[in-house]
Amino acid sequence: MGTPPGKTPLIFRSPLEVLVLRVEGERMSNRLEIQFHDGRCIPQLGLGVWQTPNETAVTAVQAALQSGYRHVDTAAIYGNEAGVGEGLKASGLARSQVFLTTKLWNDDQGFDSTLRALEASLKKLATDYVDLYLIHWPSAHRGRYVDSWRALVRLQSEGKARSIGVSNFESEHLHRIIGETGVTPVLNQIELHPRFQQRALRQEHARLKIATQSWSPLGQGQLLTDPIVLAVAAKHGKTPAQVVIRWHLENQLIVIPKSVTPSRIVENFAVQDFQLDESDRSQLDSLDSAEGRIGPNPATATF
Ligand code: NAD
Repeated sequence: MGTPPGKTPLIFRSPLEVLVLRVEGERMSNRLEIQFHDGRCIPQLGLGVWQTPNETAVTAVQAALQSGYRHVDTAAIYGNEAGVGEGLKASGLARSQVFLTTKLWNDDQGFDSTLRALEASLKKLATDYVDLYLIHWPSAHRGRYVDSWRALVRLQSEGKARSIGVSNFESEHLHRIIGETGVTPVLNQIELHPRFQQRALRQEHARLKIATQSWSPLGQGQLLTDPIVLAVAAKHGKTPAQVVIRWHLENQLIVIPKSVTPSRIVENFAVQDFQLDESDRSQLDSLDSAEGRIGPNPATATF
């Protein structure tokens, strides 16, 4: 999925960000996209489906696609690729209208096993390609992430993964795969939210032209009761989730909040009718903390 031929991006707010107006049947929707260094585009706001069983994934994905989302983030380890594929089918949208990401699980790292792992994911997703395939964790103690990356390069050349990237990679892991293969991932999906802003890694991404994607963008819901977030939300007449999602979008981050509740899925997508001002931004930026990490640290993880 990229900017379709003949559809000129209307506004460039940064070299990476493109605001595209798309005509979809009767409806014109206005969505932000980020352009990768490989030329393809990803909708900046998508649905995350971690900790969502197959049956719930069907309804969540369907609800999201019906309310305007065009981007879903799953992973082999989530055990719900079949549900995601079913939700996509039930939405009635063409495969080409939806940006689909899945991830290689750590146990499958290695060249041949990675090739097999994507085949298995595609079968479950009931599709013959993903828009983005990610190495889920460097899992450096296994010593196989460079071989896995070479397999992703192969899978991209075969058209089974339109774009290829990584997740939870630190600067040293990024430099190693780029140095050994000459191929730069389009994106790194990392834990990122106002309490853990990853400024140094984001700067490195900018130098390398790697897009940054935020996982646990709402801090797994913990940020939604933060007094600063509540105050900014009240000021704009928006919900805390909408304020935090807006913070990600305005920071050029690709964001994949998770919800399985249809009303929240709709709420999380309704974020294009307001903007944070300088005071909001500086207050939210002040939440950054070296202790703000919620999930595992890639440097010390042993799974
Ligand atoms: P999140 O930060 O998106 O928070 C999700 C939780 O916030 C939900 O369980 C829900 O309880 C709550 N919530 C969502 N919308 C709400 C609303 N409008 N009002 C009130 N509460 C609301 O957490 P997450 O699921 O950890 O992260 C999002 C996605 O990131 C995942 O689903 C997954 O796709 C991805 N992810 C990737 C990795 C990785 O290692 N690559 C790790 C974790 C998550």
